[in-house]
Amino acid sequence: MQQDPDITYITPTAPVATATHGGRAKCLQRLVRLDLPVPKTVALSFDEVRRIASGETPDMAALMEPFGDAALLCVRPSSEDPDWGGPGAVLNIGINDARFIDLCDQLGREAATAMYLRFVQAYAIHVARLDPDMFDHINQDDPDCLTEVLRAYEEETEEEFPQDPAVQLLEVLRSMARAWGGTTARLLRQAKGAPADAGLGLVVQEMAPSMGKGECGSGVIQLVNSKTGERKITGRYLSQSQGRDALARQSAALYLERDPRGPSLQELAPEAFDQLIEYTRMMRVRLREEMQTEFTIENGNLHVLDGVRVARSAHAAIRIAVSLADDGVIPREEALTRIDPRAINELLHRQVDPDAPRDVLATGIAASPGAASGRIVFSAAEAQASAARGEPCVLVRRETSPEDIRGMHAATAVLTERGGMTSHAAVIGRGMGLPCVVGASSIKFHLRRKTLKTADGRELRAGDIVTVDGTNGEVLAGEPPLLKAEQDDAFQTLMTWADEVRDIGVRANADTPADAQTARNFKAQGIGLCRTEHMFFEGDRLTVMREMIFADSVKDREAALERLLPMQRADFIELFRIMQGQPVCIRLFDPPLHEFLPHDRAGHRELAEALDLPLSDVTRRVEQLSEYNPMLGMRGVRLGITVPEIYDMQARAIFEATIEASRDGDPVVPEIMIPLVSAKREVELVKTRVDAVAAAVRTEKGRDFTYRLGVMVETPRAALRAGEIAPHAAFLSFGTNDLTQMTYGLSRDDAGRFMSTYVQQGVFPEDPFHDLDTEGVGELLQIGAQRGRDARPDLVLSICGEHGGSPESIAFCRAAGFNYVSCSPFRVPVARLAAAQLAVQEKFGVLPGKPLKDL
Ligand code: PEP
Ligand code: MG
Repeated sequence: MQQDPDITYITPTAPVATATHGGRAKCLQRLVRLDLPVPKTVALSFDEVRRIASGETPDMAALMEPFGDAALLCVRPSSEDPDWGGPGAVLNIGINDARFIDLCDQLGREAATAMYLRFVQAYAIHVARLDPDMFDHINQDDPDCLTEVLRAYEEETEEEFPQDPAVQLLEVLRSMARAWGGTTARLLRQAKGAPADAGLGLVVQEMAPSMGKGECGSGVIQLVNSKTGERKITGRYLSQSQGRDALARQSAALYLERDPRGPSLQELAPEAFDQLIEYTRMMRVRLREEMQTEFTIENGNLHVLDGVRVARSAHAAIRIAVSLADDGVIPREEALTRIDPRAINELLHRQVDPDAPRDVLATGIAASPGAASGRIVFSAAEAQASAARGEPCVLVRRETSPEDIRGMHAATAVLTERGGMTSHAAVIGRGMGLPCVVGASSIKFHLRRKTLKTADGRELRAGDIVTVDGTNGEVLAGEPPLLKAEQDDAFQTLMTWADEVRDIGVRANADTPADAQTARNFKAQGIGLCRTEHMFFEGDRLTVMREMIFADSVKDREAALERLLPMQRADFIELFRIMQGQPVCIRLFDPPLHEFLPHDRAGHRELAEALDLPLSDVTRRVEQLSEYNPMLGMRGVRLGITVPEIYDMQARAIFEATIEASRDGDPVVPEIMIPLVSAKREVELVKTRVDAVAAAVRTEKGRDFTYRLGVMVETPRAALRAGEIAPHAAFLSFGTNDLTQMTYGLSRDDAGRFMSTYVQQGVFPEDPFHDLDTEGVGELLQIGAQRGRDARPDLVLSICGEHGGSPESIAFCRAAGFNYVSCSPFRVPVARLAAAQLAVQEKFGVLPGKPLKDL
């Protein structure tokens, strides 16, 4: 028996492994090895359970032999990863009319009845598949209830309740084995990362008595708080109970430690309590994990039924991992691999309390994590007015445009009907740490009437309170309780450890001083992308910008730019000062000019007044600037070459700010990046002018400085021609938002409309604006990197599209030899941890979340 690899009696040396028998079976063997009082257990392997599911009968005599004749048994699932779930446990197998009578003598009628009832009900529901409602009216205190339940079973099934323990056990095993193959169970576990062919093991364990004479009961205990990870004895114990009853019937449960509010396990069974603490501590050290102990007490004696990894919030996970490493239980590197980088979002943004009820109005794309509540407003102006009144508001738009920036700053969250992961609202929302759901197309947006209609027919009006949960991509009714964002000392410690092992740089995309400050607080190693155009929407700059756009001659344009120069210079000085000598990569003006113009008639009129021009002039100019495909039109370097005065002004502002900020702080070496390049000649032309501006500023100011000029690779052609571009560029930064858009020929602003259909039908495995398409776009990255480096070995390579913050893209870029990734400031910690995990993984050959056994 001991040697049977499929029906394995668990002893310290039995052939039990997580990969063949599941995590629970393996954990129980470890507890047996620690000499804990674990009831007898037999583990069934994945193969055995598969055979049972397909109708084969295991060797029941061999299976039941270790338990003797009178034992009651329970069966629990044992999948490879406990998170993949499995069918619920079934207790008290083996009870029948004869044993019931014995149990009445041993434990009393009440306890025996409760045990038999529990089994009959579980058997009826899980094995005979009867409707659970049929037991709703059963009153457990009624002395005849058992007879009634057995009769109900017989009436429904037209069979007697099975009395043979072997039959009972076999049927339970069959039902659990088959439940694992059900569609819902399969989809649920696959959603948690289980492979399609994941196996299920089962453990058959002798029931340790927990009902009867003396102090008997069952419970769970752990030594940390699941929400905070702080050391605190928590759990539940209920006298005269089984399984997880103590958790279900909380009101009657006892305190574990002595407590002035009521009786405790420590007082009722002090020795068992002390042992429990000792065992749970021992499990922590020997199993190298914070464990919850499931136990029973039988007349004061302790049995340990199971050890389960303590459930934990992201906060708790970090504190637990750090404290295990601090106590020398696991190495620091392993602590790093224990945290899912994405879970860090929970610490950086407010979240809806997971215990709160959720009234979901609609779902969309989870574009920027965190949650916030507020009254619905339908325009940026209303958002600003609401903020001025001190009323939190949620800005609802069909999609946002640069004109909405101030409204977004005023709002607590943003909801849009259209858009995808790289649409305006998403990019800006992530940059600001503003919760944002985009592409909520199941809602009907009636912007004129200022109402929203949800798919289930509910109508929301301006002023109604909603909550945007950007972590899950949901819009909720009302104001559920939120948990605040907090980065405690354990988080800081973990991040320091991450930086010690990380071997790829992490910078932030930051456009404003506030972004830069956030980037610094999160220890970004510089700014990898500063989108300068956002600066032109601030305050009265928009009017000057519009004057520049309307200028008829170079002279008039230069005059307007002359007024923008000091504003840009001031912006850059502030950024350089905040970043204290760290690299700041400034992208020259990128969007098409018409984005700065009003789009409706009222706006045109206002502009005509402001610029003192006839309305017809304004309308004509707006028409002149309009393009069929603005994102593929006169923008980026094309504008820079056609209207070179804009880049001249920006270069001057950067250099003058460099001199100014270097005067009283660390020397600044600015990086200037040219957007939307597709040809070498574009770079040559811009470089010549920027060099000329640098020379002029040096001469005028009598000060020297250095700078680096680089190219943003966001057209497929730039990636393919990287070999001839690189000699003119100190760095190449891959803008994977536009590169994805252009590689697929897929508008980043419109893709949200059909993306979910595409993903559901398996056309794309995921939204490529969300998950880097490593096959297509990725190949361009590799080609660009390779050809660029071949031409110029010291070429600095980076990614600054939104993918830069995702762990998978970081892995890809690191493997392709990139120097750094740049992402929204709030994703910097996620990127730092993900990058550290990659280094650890490479060093020790393990996957994140898996123990470093050989360290
Ligand atoms: C990009 O295209 O990847 C990029 C970073 O630039 P933007 O999102 O501003 O177009
Ligand atoms: Mg771009």
